[in-house]
Amino acid sequence: MRILVVEDEQALAQALAHGLSRYGYSVDTTYDGETALVMAEVNAYDLVLLDLNLPKMDGLEVCRRLRAAGSRVGILMLTARSGLEERITGLDSGADDYLVKPFQFAELLARVRAVLRRDGETRSAVLQSGSLMLDPNTIKVFVDSTEIPLTAKEFGILEYLLRNASRVVSHEELLEHVWNEDANMFTQTIKVHINNIRKKLAAAGDAERIATVKGRGYIVS
Ligand code: CA
Repeated sequence: MRILVVEDEQALAQALAHGLSRYGYSVDTTYDGETALVMAEVNAYDLVLLDLNLPKMDGLEVCRRLRAAGSRVGILMLTARSGLEERITGLDSGADDYLVKPFQFAELLARVRAVLRRDGETRSAVLQSGSLMLDPNTIKVFVDSTEIPLTAKEFGILEYLLRNASRVVSHEELLEHVWNEDANMFTQTIKVHINNIRKKLAAAGDAERIATVKGRGYIVS
């Protein structure tokens, strides 16, 4: 899942990006509202972590403009203000949830997961398909009771496929949702990652989980 971090305190922005990428998310970072709006319009983010007080355009305005343009991206607002009125304004401008600074990283993660569940096929925290089980809370994957050791990128791919189970996910879509802007990516790289995931699942007895739909992409069923 791909996240845009918008936070003008650069040290905090970097810490958030680093922390989130350790949980298998692909993260882009920007420090002002105007750039955030452009990036959110150009890239296929699953969630925007949006600070309220930002240079050039504040978080509320970014939020309003995204929603006015029809964006359904998950928006989690960060605010240093603890006033009730500001929180209500944030939610009314289209944010899905908010978090008051300072916050614990564990709570941020939990709220990120909750916002991401909102649009999924399932509201369940754990993603499952047959004997395969992926838990975004613990970043662990199991086939029956066997834990599957995946890299962060493999985890990200499998999570995206599971969140979109029962429909075909194209190479382009995987590139947009699992890699960030810095990545210099080719379709071939996706194939290599998918093959590695398949080998690991097959070793635990789940060989057919990810099917290739020729010319279109992949489907988990
Ligand atoms: Ca700020």
